[in-house]
Amino acid sequence: MKKLLLIILLISISSYAAKIRTGIHNSFYRVVIEAKSGKNLEKLPFFDKDFIVIKLKENHLKVPKINSKFIKLFKIINQHGYKKLVFEKSDFVKSYIIKKIKNKIIIDFYKNKRVVEDKFYDPIAKLILSNENKFSKRKKLTDKIKIISLRTDPLYNLINKELSKEETLKIIKPVVVVIDPGHGGKDPGAMANGLVEKNVNLEIAKKLKRILENSRIFKVYLTRNGDYFVDLYKRTVFAVKKKADIFISIHCNADRSGKGKGTYIYTLNLRGAKSKLARIVEKRENNAVIKVVKVSKNSYVNKIVAELAMNTTMTEGRNFAYILKRKLKGITEVEDIDSANFAVLKTPGIPSVLIETAYITNKHDAQLLKDNKFINNFVIGIYKALESYFFNYKNLVLNR
Ligand SMILES: [Zn+2]
Repeated sequence: MKKLLLIILLISISSYAAKIRTGIHNSFYRVVIEAKSGKNLEKLPFFDKDFIVIKLKENHLKVPKINSKFIKLFKIINQHGYKKLVFEKSDFVKSYIIKKIKNKIIIDFYKNKRVVEDKFYDPIAKLILSNENKFSKRKKLTDKIKIISLRTDPLYNLINKELSKEETLKIIKPVVVVIDPGHGGKDPGAMANGLVEKNVNLEIAKKLKRILENSRIFKVYLTRNGDYFVDLYKRTVFAVKKKADIFISIHCNADRSGKGKGTYIYTLNLRGAKSKLARIVEKRENNAVIKVVKVSKNSYVNKIVAELAMNTTMTEGRNFAYILKRKLKGITEVEDIDSANFAVLKTPGIPSVLIETAYITNKHDAQLLKDNKFINNFVIGIYKALESYFFNYKNLVLNR
């Protein structure tokens, strides 16, 4: 009898699951996260107020259908020993209130404006957090997010004084960006209106490197630092060797008529170009290929692995391209996002894009390419896209 009781008890313990309940009220949508114990629930600080991140230290969780009108994205990220529940509020939601009552966290999403009340916002807690970081040897991306969230914190300056530059650098595992200034040396690229493409590409790449490294969250390598020739295959190998998180190839467009204008973003498509224009650009940019990249070897397994890696290169490249298009709005006219079989974008497992900044052959575009202000803004646009891709999109969706 005792044994039976024990078994029943064990079953009831092991079958316990934390749960999320939802309900629509007059003016708000309520989400309740209920854990076994209040100690297992915690709201994590996050720099972007559109996101709410809850840490749940329980193994089982029952989730109902989440109303997408109020919550644009809901994601459960399994970490070692806990889960991260990520809610991204929709644009429809104008404010929200979060409360913790015993073993529950209650989030009310409002349609109308209210002051966002975050009961968990505690600058002292953040200060303690930063001190923990100081001695922490963990080099995870989550640490980077803590640093960023501190920047918007009024106490950031105070904390920063205590945390010297070197210490901050130790905490952060930087995102590695390989920038590829197209052409170089004997291969000048396009030439028109007093501009030589290889020089413009290098200037943009160097500026981008400077601004990215200033932020201390990116480590940048250029495939060439001066005016010399590097073949396309070597550029992709370089990116793999540097363990790049992303590969960005910088180019300028050209056409005979001088009518083509604006910015184009290209991603890899192993099947080749779909549009006529993409085919022309593909042909021109592939001209410097000396060795052909071997994507697959004879072994069947190798072929599959290589193709899977190229899938990341293509699909993630495309995801980044869309973010980039948004961030370049108002700076340049992004005419299209297209794909073609670019040799230089065959960086297995690394998201890659090729940016045709503007048309060197177009009078108006050439003026822009000579304008420092335009180049600066363009580079800031790329920087913002990288920041958004790695810290909003990628960390939350893919949990890099
Ligand atoms: Zn080019």
